[in-house]
Amino acid sequence: MNADLVVVGAGVIGLSCAWQAQQQGMQVLVLDGRGPGEGTSRRAAGMLLPDVEGEHDAEERAFGRRSYELYPSFTSGLEAATGIDTGFRRCSCYLVAQSTERAEVLRRMEWGVWLGAPEIRQRMAGFGEMEGARIGDAAQLEPRQLIAALSVGLRGRGAEIETGLAVADVQAGSDGVDALVMADGSLRRGRRYLFATGAWAGEMPYLAERGVSTEPVRGQIVTLEDTGDEPLRDIIFGQGIYLAPKGARRVYLGATEERVGFDERPAADGTLHLLEGLRRLYPGGMRFAVRESWAGLRPYRAGGAMIGRIDENAVAAVGHHRNGILLAPATAERVTALIAEIG
Ligand SMILES: Cc1cc2nc3c(=O)[nH]c(=O)nc-3n(C[C@H](O)[C@H](O)[C@H](O)COP(=O)(O)OP(=O)(O)OC[C@H]3O[C@@H](n4cnc5c(N)ncnc54)[C@H](O)[C@@H]3O)c2cc1C
Repeated sequence: MNADLVVVGAGVIGLSCAWQAQQQGMQVLVLDGRGPGEGTSRRAAGMLLPDVEGEHDAEERAFGRRSYELYPSFTSGLEAATGIDTGFRRCSCYLVAQSTERAEVLRRMEWGVWLGAPEIRQRMAGFGEMEGARIGDAAQLEPRQLIAALSVGLRGRGAEIETGLAVADVQAGSDGVDALVMADGSLRRGRRYLFATGAWAGEMPYLAERGVSTEPVRGQIVTLEDTGDEPLRDIIFGQGIYLAPKGARRVYLGATEERVGFDERPAADGTLHLLEGLRRLYPGGMRFAVRESWAGLRPYRAGGAMIGRIDENAVAAVGHHRNGILLAPATAERVTALIAEIG
């Protein structure tokens, strides 16, 4: 296969960029040492909250907003092409004030409506004595279904997704990347290259030398089954803890934020932290059934995601930290524009 674009990393970022490139008529090869989404993307909660998650400056917020606006056409195009439901749906998000400082911030927030404790309890019976704000315009999806749709969509239109063999390094010269060196010594070549290697970016010497590195920040989730009479529909967001209901009574309780290197195992103290947080945030949820727990490594990068040209024929898109699912469509838009500049 002589690919127009070789993508290293089949996470939500690599696959979304590959999908967009394919829509523009490119022949795409995607390589992943594991499988589609099996780095971090399958472990995400799938909330699309441009104004809530992470630390935002004006530029980041505008980028998040742009991606949020692209989402309906991004998912409907994918769903029409594959028949796979991505779980995309609009909902509200309740931002609960768990301290007086946070209440002050939420009261001043332009994009939400402030609600007193009785009003919140009226809308959701399981709440304790807490005030907060409601954002009417939020959305979420199911990351595993999004990854499935992207993989099926890409393969269905002739892309190759090669899994189970990592890219060990890169042969590069003054004209840019010449070939990718796989873990078994074999080579892969294409006209242009995209590196979307998430939390593992700095592990590849070629990327590390160009300052394209990320730090893994572990996030743990406990999945619950909503056993209440009126299942939760909206996202509830406290301080460092949230509940994201996914339909079919499944609720994601997340997420820890831990700097423990590349350890992807969910830990007992993470589970305890989340369940204690649940008791404070939404006491009604303590009756929910516990299903499973997992953890993933957010790709953190000081100063935000790096999306840019790194060589004559190569682009990188890494470091989306807490917002990689949200930022996938806008990243794909930006990356395909950079690829077009390469020519
Ligand atoms: C618990 C948790 C909850 C989250 N919730 C949300 C949320 O609600 N909303 C949101 O927007 N974001 C959320 N995120 C963040 C989001 O999951 C990430 O930002 C996103 O998944 C990053 O995508 P990626 O494609 O950059 O990385 P990944 O999904 O990790 O993909 C990178 C891929 O590159 C591959 N790779 C790496 N190195 C090599 C190599 N040398 N050779 C071959 N392949 C390689 C890996 O195997 C991996 O599959 C959450 C994260 C966590 C952990």
